[in-house]
Amino acid sequence: MNTMIEVMRQKMSHESFTENVTKLWKDWKWQVKHVIRDVDTVEKILNIKLTKEERANIEETIKIFPMSITPYYLSLIDADDYKNDPIFKQAFPDKRELHITKYDMVDPLAEDKDSPAIGITHRYPDRVLFHVSNLCAMYCRHCTRKRKVGDNDCIPSKEQLQEGLEYIRNNLMIRDVLISGGDPFMLSDDLIDWVLGELNKIEHIEVIRIGTRTPVVLPYRITDNLVEILKKHGVIWINTHFNHPKEITDSSKEALRKLAMAGIPLGNQSVLLADVNDCPRIMKRLVHNLVQNRVRPYYIYQCDLSEGLEHFRTSVGKGIEIMESLRGHTSGFAVPTYVIDAPGGGGKIPVMPNYLISWSTNKVILRNYEGVITTYQEPDDYRHDSCDLKCNTCNLQLKLQKGEESKITGIAKLIADYNEVITLTPSE
Ligand SMILES: *Cc1c(COP(=O)(O)O)cnc(C)c1O
Repeated sequence: MNTMIEVMRQKMSHESFTENVTKLWKDWKWQVKHVIRDVDTVEKILNIKLTKEERANIEETIKIFPMSITPYYLSLIDADDYKNDPIFKQAFPDKRELHITKYDMVDPLAEDKDSPAIGITHRYPDRVLFHVSNLCAMYCRHCTRKRKVGDNDCIPSKEQLQEGLEYIRNNLMIRDVLISGGDPFMLSDDLIDWVLGELNKIEHIEVIRIGTRTPVVLPYRITDNLVEILKKHGVIWINTHFNHPKEITDSSKEALRKLAMAGIPLGNQSVLLADVNDCPRIMKRLVHNLVQNRVRPYYIYQCDLSEGLEHFRTSVGKGIEIMESLRGHTSGFAVPTYVIDAPGGGGKIPVMPNYLISWSTNKVILRNYEGVITTYQEPDDYRHDSCDLKCNTCNLQLKLQKGEESKITGIAKLIADYNEVITLTPSE
């Protein structure tokens, strides 16, 4: 980082704050103001030289998918071996992004199609994604919303956010709001305070989640003031996005510590990326580093079918291999769920090794992580009372308020005793 500050000092010598770069370095607004968007600056800072052809390719790529790297994130790159650096690969454009395969989609998760109001994606009955901006400090090369990166980047006004809020207010089934983006923490403290305040006023909202990559790419965003605001507003969970152990630095640890100390449960969503983290040893190191910093690994995503991501995609088998190397081999709470977000808007589908090998009427055959094959004898006289939804007369004593239960859907509906449906037939 010191050379980085030195280069920054030189670069900004025409500006008035030369002596203060070290202090300014930890000012998130300074970082945002100085994000690197051009190849020249990357070459200068890393002290590297691209060939003419390489440069032409990158320029071409940036025209379609722009580049934006925070000085902080750039400073983590090992300049001596930048081509193999996991930070470099996530931040610096690659001409392979221009290669669009016939399976690639502009909007693979159908987020725009499933959008009933500006900024809202409503796929699961009880929860919504609320995109509060499309602005990010760093443009991840593997962004699933690549289609939107760099599109009229701007902080939304309260009026623009009102439509989404209104939708949430009017849908009593929604109990969980996932604030996403872009990066929600690119909004000002005041606007974050306002959005959270508005959500908190809605009686049916039980939890608010925020998805942010700032602890990874802009850890100085987690200021004391921001933390005070988060603490003020009901139950907030935060999910962040670390992909590689190298991203866990003293600065990011400090950001995570502040959030955890404010009582905010922290989770992490990683994306499985070829040549970046497609290795059981790297993933194990990552989840260990996360739990050491009070972050619970939540999901590992199979890389989406967004345009220009083919070079990042792995086989699904690689993900299963990674899960096989975690479950049983490390603390249960360090094991995330590996999911494929189904193209076309099918939602997240968990994928894992098979542990249930076979079964009979009263016995299941299982195998454990060591390969031990074992049996579990089921009770001879387990009697299950058919459920008629009349909780008042049920021994299990669930005391639900009226309207507290949402309607059953999907496979659970086929299973339910009180439902007559015996097949699910796709409407198309
Ligand atoms: C991921 C996602 C959610 C949240 O899913 P969880 O499994 O509850 O974390 C909600 N809505 C949409 C559209 C999503 O993509």
